[in-house]
Amino acid sequence: MAASKISFVHELLIAEYGRSQWHARADPLSELIGTILSQNTSDVNSTQAFGNLMTTFGSFEAIRDAPVEAIARAIKSGGLAQVKAPRIKRVLQAISEQTGGLNLDFLRGWDVARTKKWLCSLGGVGPKTAACVLLFSLGKPALPVDTHVYRVSQRLGLIPPRVTAERAHQLLEEMLAPDEVYPFHLGMIAHGRRICRARRPLCLDCVLCQHCDYYWKNVQIT
Ligand code: SF4
Repeated sequence: MAASKISFVHELLIAEYGRSQWHARADPLSELIGTILSQNTSDVNSTQAFGNLMTTFGSFEAIRDAPVEAIARAIKSGGLAQVKAPRIKRVLQAISEQTGGLNLDFLRGWDVARTKKWLCSLGGVGPKTAACVLLFSLGKPALPVDTHVYRVSQRLGLIPPRVTAERAHQLLEEMLAPDEVYPFHLGMIAHGRRICRARRPLCLDCVLCQHCDYYWKNVQIT
């Protein structure tokens, strides 16, 4: 049921928002650190924090070896610096210990499952962050379930109401063909920002309404 519904949703999102062509956003390590910095803040703030971090230290090796307090000062503009600074240092240390360096290009030759498992073993890296590295840097079909993807998927009935965001990654990915993952992700984010907002979704303007559980339960006028 949800699997057939997601096909309709995917096609309607493409018709509404277009099919974006994939392009690499950053190298895998920059994507990983940038995604950690993006947690619970805006793109503008996290981009600024990443820029400050690289300007201050100049290399990932220098960040790895720096005191946590100095990292926290450099990323202050991204918020939650006291949480993110030790996480970044720990992740860089773990990568160095496991690979002997700070370069994640070897992941290009790994499949999705192996890459996810390895990234999530680093500590402080969850399924969403791992999926961002896979999708945006490596061009592999992993779906990051952010707040928009999670909310819109629940309202549509693509995932059960009380499923965790962690579990939603697997459920949604299993229903999508590999080449659908990237445009589906971007379409759901665009839809969540413009129409299916957290508060007062604009259901009467929504192209997905005929396929939406929330609409049929709460909005549809008979
Ligand atoms: S009908 Fe309403 S709740 Fe359903 S996807 Fe559209 S905006 Fe969201």
